[in-house]
Amino acid sequence: MDQGFIVGGRRVFGSTGESFAVVDPATGEPFARVAQAAPADVDLAVREAREALEDRRWSLITPLERGRILNRIGELVRERGDELAALMCRENGMTLNYALYVEIPMVGDAFSYYGGLVPQVGGETLPFAFPGAPPDYLAMTLKEPVGVAAQITPWNFPLLMPAWKIAPALAAGCPVVLKPSSETPLTALFLAELCLAAGVPEGMVNVVTGPGTTVGRTLVTHPDVRKIAFTGETATGRSILRDAAGGIKRVTLELGGKSPNIVFEDADLEAAVGGALLGVFLNQGQICQAGSRILVQESIYEAFVARFAERAKSLTVGPGTDALSDLGPVISRDQLLKVGDYVASGLAAGAQLLTGGGRPELPSPFDRGFFVQPTVFGSVTPDMAIAREEIFGPVAAIMTFKSEEELVRVANSTIYGLAGAVWTRDVKRAFRVARGIGSGTVWINTYHLLSPAAPFGGYKQSGLGRELGRQGLESYLETKTVIVDLNDTPVSYF
Ligand code: NAD
Repeated sequence: MDQGFIVGGRRVFGSTGESFAVVDPATGEPFARVAQAAPADVDLAVREAREALEDRRWSLITPLERGRILNRIGELVRERGDELAALMCRENGMTLNYALYVEIPMVGDAFSYYGGLVPQVGGETLPFAFPGAPPDYLAMTLKEPVGVAAQITPWNFPLLMPAWKIAPALAAGCPVVLKPSSETPLTALFLAELCLAAGVPEGMVNVVTGPGTTVGRTLVTHPDVRKIAFTGETATGRSILRDAAGGIKRVTLELGGKSPNIVFEDADLEAAVGGALLGVFLNQGQICQAGSRILVQESIYEAFVARFAERAKSLTVGPGTDALSDLGPVISRDQLLKVGDYVASGLAAGAQLLTGGGRPELPSPFDRGFFVQPTVFGSVTPDMAIAREEIFGPVAAIMTFKSEEELVRVANSTIYGLAGAVWTRDVKRAFRVARGIGSGTVWINTYHLLSPAAPFGGYKQSGLGRELGRQGLESYLETKTVIVDLNDTPVSYF
C-alpha cells in the first residue's frame, strides 16, 4: 500500500486494510494506492477534530501567529509547487503549465488572503436598549467557530478545491475533516502534510479517503459535524442537503453549471473568440463555471463560428506533461464515455458538428488515455440536452440570439446559475446584461478570472452560500450576542 490518510496528524491505514487505486488519466494505468477509510475511521477523525477544538490548541495561538501559519502554508505550496503540479498532472490530467503557473499561485494566494483576515475576525459593539429598563447596557457580538467542518471535494481541481475550504475554516478556527474525490486523493493528502509542516496543530486538518457513498455520507451525518462544505455535482449536493437536515447543519454547496458566454455584434471578435475558447476548453472543460453555452448575436454568427472552430481545431491535445499540450485527458473512462454520449445526443438532436467529436490519435501509452478532441457544435437550440445539461468535458454548444430581451431569457433558461460572461464594447449594455443574468459571477470582456477576495458561488441549483472573500469566512463562524447589564438596579417586572 502506498499512502495512508491523515487523522490527528498521523498517517493511518484504516481499520479494514482496504485500499483503492489512483489512475493516471493520460495512460489509463493505476500508479498509486490509497487506504480506504471505514465509518470507524471517519468517527476517529471527527473525534480528533473535536478534541482539537475543545482543548483550544488552535485558538490559543495568537491571531497574528495563526495568520502567519496560514501564510506559511501558502509559501510551502509555492516552494513545493513543482512536486504538487506534477502530482496534479498525474492524478487529474491537467496540463503541467496550468498547474504550475495558475493553480499553484491561486492556492498560495488563497492561504495568504485568509492569513491576512485571521487577526480581523471579531464581532462589534451594539447600541442596546430594552423597553422600560434603564439605559446602561453593553452589548456585543462575538464570532466563534461553527465547529467541526466536513469538507467534501471533487476531482477537477484537486488542490484548489481543498484550499478554498481549508483556508477559511482555519481562519475561522474550525477543525477540518476533508474527504477528497477518490480520483484525486494524493494532492489533498500532500496539502494536509503542508498544513502540518507549517505549524497547524495536529487534529485541525484531517483527511479521510474513500467513496462518497460511505465515507462522505458518514461524515455528513456524523453528529459531531456542525458544518458541511461541499463541491460537486448538483445531484450529490441535493442528497447531502437531505442528509444534513437531520442535524440542522450549516451547509454550503458549490455545484454544477451551464454558464452562458454571450457575444454581441459590437464585441472585439478576436478577443471574444479567445475568451470563449478559454471559457469552455480550459482544464478540458472540467470546470464548474465553464462557458459551455456560447450565445452569439445572429449578425456575427457565421464569422464567429468559423474563427472559433478554426482555433478549436488548432488546439493540441496530449499528456499534461507535454509543454505543447493545450488540453490533457479527461479524468476517467466514465467521463470519456459520458462526453461521447453527449456528442451522440448533439448529433441526434440536429446540432452541427463543426470540429472534434472523437478521440485524437496519440502514440502509446497515451493511446489508452482518456483524451477527447475539443468539440464544437453550431446551430444548437436551447431545448437540446447539450445546451441544458452540464457535460463537464471539452464540448462547446454555440447558439444564436437576435435581441437583448430574448438573450437574457435564453441565458437564464437552465436550472443552473453559477457564472456567465458578456462580450461587448457598449458599457451600458454590458451592465444591463450582467444584471439580467441570474448567476453568482458575471465577467465582462473576460472569462474565468477569480480572486480569493471575490465571493464565488451559485444562484438557483448551482449552489448555496459562497466560498472565498469575507463571506466564505463568515460561513465558518457563528455569531453570539452578549448583553451586559451595567445598571445599578436590575430589571424586574415581578
Ligand atoms: P461528485 O458530486 O460526484 O463528487 C464530489 C465529492 O462528493 C466526491 O468527493 C465524492 O466522493 C463525494 N460524494 C459523492 N456522493 C456523496 C454522498 N452521497 N455524500 C457525501 N459525499 C459524496 O462530483 P465530481 O464528479 O467529483 O465533480 C464534478 C462536479 O463538481 C461537477 O458537477 C462540477 O460542476 C462540480 N464543481 C462545482 C464547483 C463550484 O464551485 N460550483 C467547483 C468544482 C466542481
